[in-house]
Amino acid sequence: MVEPLLDGIGLLGPLDELFPDTSAEAWEEYSERYPELLSEDKWRLPILCFLVRAGGRTIVVDTGAGPKSLWLDWMPEPESQEGLLSDLRAHGVQPEDVDVVFLTHVHIDHVGWNAYEDGTPVFPNAGYVLHEEALAAARRRAGRTHIDRGILGLEDRIETVRDGDEIAAGVSVVPFPGHDDGHCGLVVGDDAVIVADAVPHPAQYDHPEWRFGYDEDQEAAVETRRRILAEFGDRELWCSHFTKGWRR
Ligand SMILES: [Zn+2]
Repeated sequence: MVEPLLDGIGLLGPLDELFPDTSAEAWEEYSERYPELLSEDKWRLPILCFLVRAGGRTIVVDTGAGPKSLWLDWMPEPESQEGLLSDLRAHGVQPEDVDVVFLTHVHIDHVGWNAYEDGTPVFPNAGYVLHEEALAAARRRAGRTHIDRGILGLEDRIETVRDGDEIAAGVSVVPFPGHDDGHCGLVVGDDAVIVADAVPHPAQYDHPEWRFGYDEDQEAAVETRRRILAEFGDRELWCSHFTKGWRR
């Protein structure tokens, strides 16, 4: 029910700055387990979106880093010029087929393909759905290109949701606070949960206590990871920066 879509691959790091409490020795096991996530001392960061088909609706969860005009200096390795869109087409989905674009939060690597450079929505028939606190965060960040283009320029298409709302039959919004204001995931059916950036690196399924420098509230993020493992640890978990589902 959850199909990963790859928008591109970034290079973030070095790891000892991103995860300041985690020693090089502690990383060794995970460098062996996930060699595709490492390039020297940096995190080779896949930027994922997800396709969810449920209740007759076609849902795209997050829209990646977007067109080159939005890329930051850590987006050096694009799979193609339009990673998300070509991957969607490979799944038999055209942009006009998408009913819902669900945004887990408003960071730059999650809203990139919301709109083209001229402001035209990439998904012409979709409602763009995000948590009301994430929209409030976007309003506070007005003036940033990805926010103005991808969120504030689309306000007539934006729909906000609250914790627990269902966006399609069997697909409901679950708050995963800590990473960014209004950050949330989706419970998809009985067996899958999109955790997005609540678990940025899969090593944190083993080590939820590893702090991540880009988490806005690091205490809350640790608490959220523990809660995900306690509540949903028996399901398939999908994070936004690992191409495979994770199972205990
Ligand atoms: Zn992210």
